[in-house]
Amino acid sequence: MKKYDLHSHTKHSRCSVNKPARVLKLAKKRGLDGIAITDHNEIKGAKEVARLNKDRDFEVIIGEEVMTDRCELLVYYLKRRIKPGKYEDVIRNVRKQGAVCSIAHPFSGGGRKNINPDFFLKLPKKYLPDAIETFNARIIMEESNSLAKGLARDLGLAETGGSDGHFPAEIGAGYTAFKGSLKEAMLARRTVSGGKSRFPFFHRSLTGVVILLKKVFKSVFDR
Ligand SMILES: [Zn+2]
Ligand SMILES: [Zn+2]
Repeated sequence: MKKYDLHSHTKHSRCSVNKPARVLKLAKKRGLDGIAITDHNEIKGAKEVARLNKDRDFEVIIGEEVMTDRCELLVYYLKRRIKPGKYEDVIRNVRKQGAVCSIAHPFSGGGRKNINPDFFLKLPKKYLPDAIETFNARIIMEESNSLAKGLARDLGLAETGGSDGHFPAEIGAGYTAFKGSLKEAMLARRTVSGGKSRFPFFHRSLTGVVILLKKVFKSVFDR
C-alpha cells in the first residue's frame, strides 16, 4: 500500500507559512510515498514543489482547494488553476482537465461551514465528485470524520485523507492509502483514509494569527 497526504498547504495560501522545499522534505522524511499540494484557489506552490522533486519514487500531485458555493473541493492532477465559482461549473472544469476531486472536510465545524448533504444526495451522477475527505487531521470533533465516512458510503464515493497542514508539524498527519495509481484507485473507490491529528485546535487558532500577520507584514512572508 502507498500512502499520500492529499491535503496540504504552502505559503501560497494566505493562511500558511510552509515553504515548498520544506513540505517536500518533511513529506519524505515522514514516510509518505507522495503528497498533493492543495493551496486555496492557487497552484503556484504545487508547481514549485513538483519542480523541486527529483525523486522518481515520490509523487507530487498538482492540486488545489477550490472554493465553490456548495463546498471546498480538493482537486488533483490539474493542468490549469481553477477559479472559485459555482459548484457545477467547477466540476465541469475538473472533468475537462481529466482531474479527480474530493469534497474537503464536509462536516468540520468549528467556524467552517458544513455542507448540505441533501444537495449532494439529489445531484445527477455527472456532478458528483469522486471522493469525500473522510479523514482531515484538523477536525476538532471526532464526529466530523465519521459523518464524512457515512456520506461517502451513502454516495458510493471513494475516501481521501489528508493533514490539511498549514504548518510544518502537521504535514503527514493524515493520509490516503491505496494500491497502484491513485487516480485509478480513487475511480474504483478503493482508497482508505487515516492518520493522527497533531494539536488541531492549536494549529487552527494559529492559522488566524498567520492570516493577520501575513496581511500586515506581507513583504516579509513573500521572500
Ligand atoms: Zn487555509
Ligand atoms: Zn485546506
